[in-house]
Amino acid sequence: MLMTSQKYKQTRSCASCGYEATRFLDELTAAFEETREWKKPCSQCGSQDFIGESNAIPPLSRAQLEIWSINDKLHFLEQDEDLILAIPSQLELLLEFLDSPKTQISKRRILASALYVLWYDAYPKTGGEYSRNTAFAEKVASIINQRTDMFVKLGSEESANPLWYIEDYLKKAFEKYNS
Ligand SMILES: [Zn+2]
Repeated sequence: MLMTSQKYKQTRSCASCGYEATRFLDELTAAFEETREWKKPCSQCGSQDFIGESNAIPPLSRAQLEIWSINDKLHFLEQDEDLILAIPSQLELLLEFLDSPKTQISKRRILASALYVLWYDAYPKTGGEYSRNTAFAEKVASIINQRTDMFVKLGSEESANPLWYIEDYLKKAFEKYNS
């Protein structure tokens, strides 16, 4: 019988013999790209080529952020991680890890960038039809403005442009909003 903690389903089809395999992962294994990687060859033919891989991804949690925030080898997604993390209902949790000196600088930059994404999506002039929320945009804008010094510190060691880690389109839109 499966343990109850292993509830995140993963499936893949062998490109060579067509065998469809399924397995279940626990939350902390399923959450990160590196740990959910399915490396074993096909159990039927030994092929390493697969098609149609699917992963059930757990909702963001404190337990995941606790591991991710101190480990630079773990990613929710290798690219655009800030977009993945920009979940309005998780704002308080994101702030907690952004503000914590225990969180690695590279991860704090991603969390800072996620704040800009949250603002951008909620701000009526830049957000999509379904994400617009003026009150939330104002709240996030104020949170960003309170942290200007921190954001500069997070980036200033590596570049003359201290906010290099925030995408230009986000930075420009926010500057325009603030002016
Ligand atoms: Zn196979």
